[in-house]
Amino acid sequence: MNQTTNKADLDGELAQHDPFKLRSKREVAEELKSLVHVYGKHANIVCKTEERAPTPPRPNELSVGVGPPGNNFIALWDKNVTLRWRFQERSMSIYANPTAAKNAIRRLFADAVAAWGDAAPVKFSEQPNLCDFEIVVRAANECNYNGCVLASAFFPDTGKHNLTIYPEMFAQVRQEQVETFVHEIGHIFGLRHFFAQVSEQDWPSQVFGRHNPLTIMNYGAQSQLTSADKEDLKRLYQQAWSGQLRQINGTPIKLMKPLRMP
Ligand SMILES: [Zn+2]
Repeated sequence: MNQTTNKADLDGELAQHDPFKLRSKREVAEELKSLVHVYGKHANIVCKTEERAPTPPRPNELSVGVGPPGNNFIALWDKNVTLRWRFQERSMSIYANPTAAKNAIRRLFADAVAAWGDAAPVKFSEQPNLCDFEIVVRAANECNYNGCVLASAFFPDTGKHNLTIYPEMFAQVRQEQVETFVHEIGHIFGLRHFFAQVSEQDWPSQVFGRHNPLTIMNYGAQSQLTSADKEDLKRLYQQAWSGQLRQINGTPIKLMKPLRMP
């Protein structure tokens, strides 16, 4: 090694000898930051709903969102929609007492739906044989340098979907578990993250109502369900359903009906 070898050369040489040399945690975390979002009271909690493949973006938030270029629309649910759900039975088999686990999840889900109150634009009904989405519990956590995923949900459309829960969620205090569900249900209602227009530009969004950082669709200490969240959501759907609101900033609203899967 001669004296002119600089740091970059050295790094290159090391990388050549060690094909499994890791990038720095900070570098990887920076790169992943735009894909994974942190919410909850702790900095190491993330929501996975927004971690979508770069191709099929879709709907919408109080940042309300839109579909892919050429197919831009804000997806909201049609009037009088009941989303039918069931547990994915095989995923519950990780529990010694699946019945007890299901009951606990049912209570969390019910508390979260109740928190949205009459702002909730859809009803939910547990149906063993007919469902629009399944509640799936993962056996293992999914973590990266930004933290662990708590849960992931979906946005309004006609497909069959999962509301997925990771073990890390059950490590949180109950209030945080409920808030996680409130946040994920917000996505199911069509809401994007508060910061969608800043850090999720690959999936366009539009802002409707008050764009206050204190919202359940934000993260960290500011992730709280507020009366503004509920009022704006309720107004959004009332106006969309009455036909008074057909587009937001030029992006058309499309009312979706679920496709019920046997
Ligand atoms: Zn989220």
